[in-house]
Amino acid sequence: MNGCQPRTVLVTGGAGFIGSYFVRIWLATQPNIRIVTLDRLTYSGSLDRLRQLPNPHRHTFIHGDICNQRLVESILREHEVNCIVHFAAEIHVDRSISGPALFVQTNIVGTFTLLEAARQYWLNEKKWNANQCRFHQVSTDEVYGSLRHEDPPFTESSSYHPNSPYAASKASGDHLAWSYFHTYGLPVSFSNCSNNYGPAQQPEAFIPTVIRSCLHQRPIPIYGDGSNRRDWLFVEDHCHGITQVILKGRPGGKYNFGGGSDRINLEVVQLICDLLDRWRPQATSYASLMTFVKDRPGHDWRYAVDDRKARLEFGWKPVMDFQTGMEKTVGWYLQGFFA
Ligand code: NAD
Repeated sequence: MNGCQPRTVLVTGGAGFIGSYFVRIWLATQPNIRIVTLDRLTYSGSLDRLRQLPNPHRHTFIHGDICNQRLVESILREHEVNCIVHFAAEIHVDRSISGPALFVQTNIVGTFTLLEAARQYWLNEKKWNANQCRFHQVSTDEVYGSLRHEDPPFTESSSYHPNSPYAASKASGDHLAWSYFHTYGLPVSFSNCSNNYGPAQQPEAFIPTVIRSCLHQRPIPIYGDGSNRRDWLFVEDHCHGITQVILKGRPGGKYNFGGGSDRINLEVVQLICDLLDRWRPQATSYASLMTFVKDRPGHDWRYAVDDRKARLEFGWKPVMDFQTGMEKTVGWYLQGFFA
């Protein structure tokens, strides 16, 4: 057993898209565990995502900033937190291009604040060993940079070549987390995941933007010629992967998670239009709303990860196929949520 046995888990960014699924899944499936969610409720955080949680008596929500050292230290002590799952981040690449400072603050200074608080409390005060506590750093495939058509997918040992201020700030957080493992022996683990999708994603992300544009009969903005390629992972499959790393993965372990659903952006848009043409038909197909717009500066062309390590070590694999996952996602918007 290399993993940790969490008792009280601090989930940062738990009112965000992926963090809220993680909170919900853990409250439902991990008996006796208490969860403390720390979230600043930025434009992309919403308490709506934390409504009607299972076993709500085991959940505490704290409205606050991961950069607030005093607050973070007091949460660790007061709740005797022995596991931190760090989702909180600024994540929208276009926002990182127009305003990178907030990305440096949250994704680098915030990660540092959490690591330092964990080091003080777990290692210096409690003197816990590597099996008694865990810091899990949730990262992205974007830290590896962009692939050309002929390149193999990124593995866990691929070097980092972040191209956007978002990716660079996430890479910096990963490097800091690794240094705390290597230098201080803080038990840190890592996951680098491909694009997530599913109901309740923040509205600015690609798939929600396409669906909302269709539902409002607005132009569907498509960067460049729509040939950028991404691998899509259903959000619950990502959370199950993180669970495996925390419970079974060794400290210092790093795992890629991909969806096995690699598509160019145009194919994703076409699928959404096809579903809406079937479920909410209009006089003309939704595809007529497709509008090609000026490409994002420095837009990465392709991301893909090799996730054989997680499959071999944990028997993890994505359960949701892309067609079914997209039907669930589009169906959720048709029920009137977040539209
Ligand atoms: P999100 O934007 O939906 O959620 C982020 C949450 O963090 C929000 O609730 C926000 O209020 C909170 N937050 C932001 N700054 C904060 C601060 N200073 N203090 C406390 N809370 C703060 O993002 P997401 O899609 O759920 O992504 C979560 C994590 O997963 C991120 O670390 C991201 O890099 C990583 N990731 C995301 C994807 C994806 O496709 N969305 C893919 C791979 C990795």
